[in-house]
Amino acid sequence: MVNATLPQITAIESEDMIGFVTESRPREIRNMREWAEDDVLIPDGPHKGMPFSCRNQPVHGLILDALIDKRFQYYALTGPVQSGKTTIGMIIPLMYYQCELRSNTLLGAPDDYIAANKWKVVLKPAYESSAYSGILPQKGPGSKGGSQLDTIYFENGTHMKLMTAGGGDSARSSYTSPFVVVTEADKMDEAGEASRESDPVTQMYARSNAYDDRAKCGMECTVSIEEGRIWQEITNGTNSRIMKLCPRCEAYVQPGREHLLGWQDAKNEIEAKANACIHCPDCGNAWTEQQRRWAVEHAVLIHEGEPDTEGVETIWYYDDEKRVVLATGIPKQTRTLGIRYDCVDNLFVSMGTVGAKEWNWARAINEDNAEKEACQFYWVVPYSPDIEASVPLTYQEVERAADRGLTKGIVPADTTHLSIGIDIGKWNCHWWLHAGRANGSEHLVDYGVIDVPTAHMEQSIATLSALSEFAETVVDVGWPLQGNTEQMVSPGVRIVDSGYMTAIIYQFIREQNARIGRRAWYPYKGYSALKRVGYDSVYWQPKAPTRGSGRPIKYGDNYHVQWHNEPMARVWLVHVDSDAWKTDLQKRFGVAKGTPGSLTLWGSSQPNEHKSIAQSLISEREDVGFVPGKGNVKKWVVVHRKKNHYLDAGSMSRVGLHLGGFRIAHQGTPPPSTPNKPKQKSIDILGGDNPYQ
Ligand SMILES: [Zn+2]
Repeated sequence: MVNATLPQITAIESEDMIGFVTESRPREIRNMREWAEDDVLIPDGPHKGMPFSCRNQPVHGLILDALIDKRFQYYALTGPVQSGKTTIGMIIPLMYYQCELRSNTLLGAPDDYIAANKWKVVLKPAYESSAYSGILPQKGPGSKGGSQLDTIYFENGTHMKLMTAGGGDSARSSYTSPFVVVTEADKMDEAGEASRESDPVTQMYARSNAYDDRAKCGMECTVSIEEGRIWQEITNGTNSRIMKLCPRCEAYVQPGREHLLGWQDAKNEIEAKANACIHCPDCGNAWTEQQRRWAVEHAVLIHEGEPDTEGVETIWYYDDEKRVVLATGIPKQTRTLGIRYDCVDNLFVSMGTVGAKEWNWARAINEDNAEKEACQFYWVVPYSPDIEASVPLTYQEVERAADRGLTKGIVPADTTHLSIGIDIGKWNCHWWLHAGRANGSEHLVDYGVIDVPTAHMEQSIATLSALSEFAETVVDVGWPLQGNTEQMVSPGVRIVDSGYMTAIIYQFIREQNARIGRRAWYPYKGYSALKRVGYDSVYWQPKAPTRGSGRPIKYGDNYHVQWHNEPMARVWLVHVDSDAWKTDLQKRFGVAKGTPGSLTLWGSSQPNEHKSIAQSLISEREDVGFVPGKGNVKKWVVVHRKKNHYLDAGSMSRVGLHLGGFRIAHQGTPPPSTPNKPKQKSIDILGGDNPYQ
């Protein structure tokens, strides 16, 4: 029976949904978005009692439009806390099927308690606050208390099955529904290991098989770990992204955690809240809250494409209304719509609030809990738990490495080898100057940033001119030597990352070596130690030079130097297992200060002097993580993408030190005698066995 309180049905037909309507009297069915904006009232929170509107949270409009896309039979949705993720991913679809389409539904949950809780605390209040309170069961299951809910019978003749991961496969095999939604899927992923017929989620989805293509199955869940069900479903599905339109440069961009700036230098939480705002990844300009709203209101949802050839650039495809519909290559062949959105899309929470949170997380006693909250509830990226991390480097350890006897920018008197590493970026390059000392210990002499005037000229010209100026006015001039600050010393080996702007870096290397008349500059190509998404290759050492190279390979520890004979190259290229060298750099902080293999930083009275270095040093780490079905596996974990520049530059400088002949184990050569040549502007500190001089 149809309850009298049902509102008037509007005149728009949704052909894909109409197949479920079992009544003989034809009805006109609204699509899910229209229905939600007409009939749903927000059950709780600051907007309680207000009509649901995508104007309040524009990302919801994009998601609802995508959910009714007929190409996708399945969906997986994740988003930040307090953003209406459950409303959009579970409440609205369930109520739409139950109320507007008047069909049966299935709600899947990890256990009875969660299932009952979802009904009583989330779904029932949504019905009660809406125009559909009249179809709620007046007696029997679902009408009041009780944690053992199985099926809820609505007064409009439909019912909703609550199904849990427990209870064996047979409990899940005798119910059919055209719509299945699973909540907290990540909590039930491993429960299915015993039954290889299929896991609980797949079995729940299978309850819709009778409806074939007309069925819809979905899940919403807070993101947990990378291996979790929701992240896997999203990334293996369309992996759709919400691209915001920058109000400053009108590029479609997706700012992330590294683009929230202003809170880092704040003196307190209040200042952090006042100063934090998102900066456009493309033009670098800050967005006010009003501009962020505009950017989100003009956002588009794009599905990931698959590159058709290796290294294909991102290509944007536009529809007739100039909306981006596809990025990169050809669309994925998938029937799962996978959507992730984060706190930048969430207009219910200001960027200032997130900035204040970041300020507190950076100071949290329990770093792991803080990081987990940041990842899962705000930035909506998988959190990587620490399980026997092999290099548990902490901020405190970095701070403890400071040596009060040494000053920023002064090369220790007993330095035998000096090397610089430069990490290349679009807007700035990060450099790190590293000293190897007579007793086998190491010292970070200085580090800094080279601004690249990308905004004022073409990228390649900007990069080349910024690097050349730095080489000639800083590197060649050198740094003062401790105890004799008249004496300037220059790094003997100079390593520059050539993974980005490769041709320009090669050109820079050739020009500089020609200018100074010897081979001091080397390009650097980093590889990963383990197979990782987004990295093309794992490091390996070739047995012999490749054809055309001809010249012998110089082998080092987890790196080798090979002549790169391509016409655009013609350089000695340093191929490096960068994960191994990053791990090795981190390990230096665990070695007792002053002993061989230890690493010091300069002393300072400033409490946060080494904060940025510390943040970068711990931005990536080797880790051991649990993978369902595989157990503990070693992996490389990126905690803060885009904060890793100093870690990269530091690793490069240490490869340079090794290449120059510095060895932790058998140092002991006397420090270089200071040449008595006062006219000489600077000397290079190198070490003895560099075969490339
Ligand atoms: Zn911009």
